[in-house]
Amino acid sequence: MDSTFQNTLKNKKDILAYSMKELGEYFESIGEKKFRAKQVYEWLHVKLADDFSEMSNLSKNLREKLEEEFYLDKLHIERVYTSKIDGTQKFLFRLCDGNIIESVLMRYKHGNSVCISTQVGCRMGCKFCASTLDGLVRNLTSSEMLKEVYTIQRFLNERVSNIVLMGSGEPMDNFDHVVRFVKMITDENGLHISQRNITISTCGLTENMRKLADEKFQVGLALSLHAADDETRRELMPVANRYSIQEALEACQYYFEQTGRRITFEYSLVAGVNDNLKEAEKLANLVGHMNCHINLIPVNPIKERDYKRSSGKNINEFKTYLERRGINVTVRREMGSDIQGACGQLRKSFIQGEA
Ligand code: SAH
Repeated sequence: MDSTFQNTLKNKKDILAYSMKELGEYFESIGEKKFRAKQVYEWLHVKLADDFSEMSNLSKNLREKLEEEFYLDKLHIERVYTSKIDGTQKFLFRLCDGNIIESVLMRYKHGNSVCISTQVGCRMGCKFCASTLDGLVRNLTSSEMLKEVYTIQRFLNERVSNIVLMGSGEPMDNFDHVVRFVKMITDENGLHISQRNITISTCGLTENMRKLADEKFQVGLALSLHAADDETRRELMPVANRYSIQEALEACQYYFEQTGRRITFEYSLVAGVNDNLKEAEKLANLVGHMNCHINLIPVNPIKERDYKRSSGKNINEFKTYLERRGINVTVRREMGSDIQGACGQLRKSFIQGEA
């Protein structure tokens, strides 16, 4: 076990979870000047320090005091894989308790985008997804999610401008930490990433989608729909047994009403399951009236299941049909397909000693 994790067991507090205001209150309570809060917050969230010892404008005494009272999460970079095709990089991080997670950096013309994990594993059980094969290990804290972005930005020495919560885990199953993460990563005293440059993807936990809408962030919401009728959706996603498509769409509509943000529907195309034109027609009938965007994802087959990717012809026909119906649609560009593109695949093979 890593020493930082042992520290948490000694009841140290998570300093990355403190807002500037809370840090100010802490410094006042120990008789320090309030401006220390700004200095420390900047070390943590702008200069992206990994250790109290880096905080060179604090006295040694004060650094030691912080060290006694708080812990500072650090993600150890276990491996970095770089795609020869498009420069996409996959990071395998080791958390303080030894768990492994993965994050992905995608380089676009409009900037660097990071796809983060929100949980170690996942308990949603979607049939085609590698992240969920061994169930949920634990939630990530908001600080660990921040560190996914911070560690990559520090490694690159370039600004990260976009974030998608589309790695392993279900963000709406870790609601409080995800909300705190959004608040902190967009804080003007920290990295100050625009809320509009963040997208949260959910399999459709409707109560928490509504709670997220009530936060009134300008964050984008993506619903993993993957089917146009409940029966097919239930085959692919156990969550469809809890909520009907209708309920999920109502929650999306509510999100749109509260935030004004257009909803994205993700639709993973699985050969012979949901990729024929009849399904495209049903999909258009279902969401065509909404202010939305459909993102088609050719399924990335995992070896544990025998789902197959749709043919190029089927993908094109599906897309063209939706376009003809006036729907905004894109096929997700495959990024880093040479470095185990699918969610959670890399972590799993790493743990099994194959990566
Ligand atoms: N829990 C969130 C984030 C999951 S990952 C959610 O369900 O939305 C982001 C998207 O990739 C989801 O739409 C997910 O269903 C999809 N996905 C996961 N594994 C996939 C695979 N092997 N092939 C294609 N899409 C996949």
